[in-house]
Amino acid sequence: MQQLVRLVGIARFAAEGGVLAQKQRVEYRTLPTRKWLNRCHSRRVPFDWSINPYRGCEYGCKYCYARFTHDYLERHDPSLFETEIYAKDWNTDAFVQELKAVKADQIIGIGTATDPYQPAERRFLLTRQVLESMLQLRRVSIFITTKSNLVSRDCDLIVKLSEWNEVRVTLTVTTMDRDLARMTEPYAPRPDLRMKAVSRLTAAGVRVGVIANPVLPLITDSEENLEGVAKAAKEAGADQFGANVLFLKPAAQRVFFPFVAEKFPQHLGRYRASFAQGAYLKGPYPDRIRNLVNQIRTRVGIPSRDMERASLPKPPGSQMMLF
Ligand code: SF4
Repeated sequence: MQQLVRLVGIARFAAEGGVLAQKQRVEYRTLPTRKWLNRCHSRRVPFDWSINPYRGCEYGCKYCYARFTHDYLERHDPSLFETEIYAKDWNTDAFVQELKAVKADQIIGIGTATDPYQPAERRFLLTRQVLESMLQLRRVSIFITTKSNLVSRDCDLIVKLSEWNEVRVTLTVTTMDRDLARMTEPYAPRPDLRMKAVSRLTAAGVRVGVIANPVLPLITDSEENLEGVAKAAKEAGADQFGANVLFLKPAAQRVFFPFVAEKFPQHLGRYRASFAQGAYLKGPYPDRIRNLVNQIRTRVGIPSRDMERASLPKPPGSQMMLF
């Protein structure tokens, strides 16, 4: 007999949402949403607020850390994260009201859990509407993180937003090797297209950084690979480069380990052993990658992506910084 589960909270909202559109591989659904701005209280994240217009992400990166977020919707099959995409219900007036809670010098992160410029954005324009509504903000720091060249569509808006605020875009590029990227990030835009977006944004005066996150041990961690990304970033005009080592929570392991077994079976044993103790790698390896990235930055001449609050630049017009 089928067991009936009583859905509560966001899982109930998700179940009540309708189908917006269907593609061959992906179904878009609405997600009734009370709040768009999420307050971040943890000192471990450099944001005061976060905004994620979509739940789930069509890019389907094999290492994606955000797959667990579909568990809250009671969608426990990890593949649903990339095929059942929820677009939050948009209401401009309600969002503008929410923005009144944001104070000068605070930091808003857009795309902290899923990609704000994934293919759904071409249809639903939620991220664009967020940016348009934010034009009324003053002296706020806004950080946009994406793996999509679609971000350059909003170049004009980002430039306008930067007149009164500190706006920074970060493109994630783990490798310049197209074949490797196709394997690890199967539905994301090609690395060269992402770098073109960096060029377009920086040419318009937008501050752009590139991160090679996550560094995949034995797969993307070579000096040649990381330096290739750093050089391409520098050539495209990026002013920051960074890279952190992969972490794998259980929901991510459920997808990543079968991927390694299929494509890199020779590494599976080491992966299993390394992540048996926890989601984060400890010991000399993370230190080695940190040192390698520092050396590459020095050689290429591109500074670090420093997200420490104390090092964040001052938004235009700011009289003082709170951190
Ligand atoms: S782009 Fe980001 S959120 Fe989307 S699947 Fe890849 S890692 Fe996950």
